[in-house]
Amino acid sequence: MSFESLNLHPLILKAINDAGYTSPTPIQEHAIPELLAGHDVMASAQTGTGKTAAFMLPALHRLASPSEVRSRGPRVLVLTPTRELALQVSEATAKYGKYLPRAKVVSILGGMPYPLQNKLLSQVVDILVATPGRLIDHIQRGRIDFSRLEMLVLDEADRMLDMGFIEDVERIASATPATRQTLLFSATLDSAMDNVAARLLNSPKRIQVATSKARLNNIEQRLHYVDDISHKNQLLDHLLRDIALKQAIVFTATKRDADMLADGLSAQGHAAAALHGDMSQRDRNRTLIKLRQGGIRVLVATDVAARGIDVAGITHVINFDLPKFAEDYVHRIGRTGRAGASGIAVSFASSKDGIHLKKIERFTGQRIASHVVPGLEPRVKPRSGAGVQPRSTPSVAHKRSRTWSSDVPHRSNAYRADGDWKAGQNRSPAGNRDTWGNTASSTRAARASSGGNSRRDSFGSTTGSSAYFRGK
Ligand code: AMP
Repeated sequence: MSFESLNLHPLILKAINDAGYTSPTPIQEHAIPELLAGHDVMASAQTGTGKTAAFMLPALHRLASPSEVRSRGPRVLVLTPTRELALQVSEATAKYGKYLPRAKVVSILGGMPYPLQNKLLSQVVDILVATPGRLIDHIQRGRIDFSRLEMLVLDEADRMLDMGFIEDVERIASATPATRQTLLFSATLDSAMDNVAARLLNSPKRIQVATSKARLNNIEQRLHYVDDISHKNQLLDHLLRDIALKQAIVFTATKRDADMLADGLSAQGHAAAALHGDMSQRDRNRTLIKLRQGGIRVLVATDVAARGIDVAGITHVINFDLPKFAEDYVHRIGRTGRAGASGIAVSFASSKDGIHLKKIERFTGQRIASHVVPGLEPRVKPRSGAGVQPRSTPSVAHKRSRTWSSDVPHRSNAYRADGDWKAGQNRSPAGNRDTWGNTASSTRAARASSGGNSRRDSFGSTTGSSAYFRGK
């Protein structure tokens, strides 16, 4: 199918052509005709499937004809759960609407100064992209006129529900004309989404084309079992040395962990930076621009902050901590393999993460193959049946290649061969932290005291082997 056959306005087709898109993605192919026909639509589409254009191209098509209502207020309103996603949508909109005379985009996001937003809202706005909280503030202050609003888009509605924004979304919707066309995009269409749709949409067409499975096909998913934080740091260091890794996003469970890990990686000489919700919008934007320009190789981020990041150079996503929700896993790894490129997603999991892993695999319908780095094998055996035959990821230098379940050899061979690991020193930037929530166990203590090098004897107990670091 071609874009021409979708009957979009010629100036939109021209912009699509400039963007280099040759044919619509499946979600675009299914959603655009329904939207042009004026139907409400609820669609399941992961990020990375081209969902932004799926709703924005028909929105722009509407804007190509002048409004019948005289007002300066927005004709299209897009609500997103995060500021990053809102900026992403705004950028894409500017790209698709660049030849249209009436397609002024304004973003209204939390964390930005009110005076500037007040000024923007006092001028003509065609498309408003906003996060719900800040928009409510402006609505309450009477700064937005929705009298000519024609289309309301709820982007990542599932996420807005998870984040507790749905009440705000409903209040905003109630301030808009009942005649509007409403679109709901969500990673999954479950009963919770049906309930939201029942309240906000009018006999919607349901579109479910982009399954997680199809979406993830261009992403190689790998699993590394880890014993503890020190082991994670060593594996991360190993992965970051891979020259095939152009840019990576490393996900941590908390903002504090993101800061600490980014600081630690920077101290080790990596071009690393953190991105999380405690940072000012200015700093977040600056970091994203730097990432896009290639000035950052490793972005350490939390889930919410990283939503919607669309940077073609991201070759790897590393789940330093597994996400709480299976759906976040899909969002995270979707940061790589953008627009048809391939990507690698690596997840670290401890033996306690079995249930989490199962949930993720059930959600994606895909099994994550377990890998080991020779010299960095886990000591603790993972869940039964999982990754039965782990694949070997080449080590930097593995003089002693071992099978995964055999006794663990000197873990730090790789670093030693590189000449980059100092004897008896724990190079981990956060070596004493334990994201499993435990204080140092004897195993960890053994590893720490041996600089990360320890051995499991045939009974499965662990012994440190600091002698190795003393120049053996
Ligand atoms: P999205 O799912 O909207 O975040 O889009 C993911 C990526 O796909 C973005 O980089 C878009 O520029 C790109 N994209 C969207 N539609 C197409 C298309 N029809 N052909 C090629 N790339 C596309």
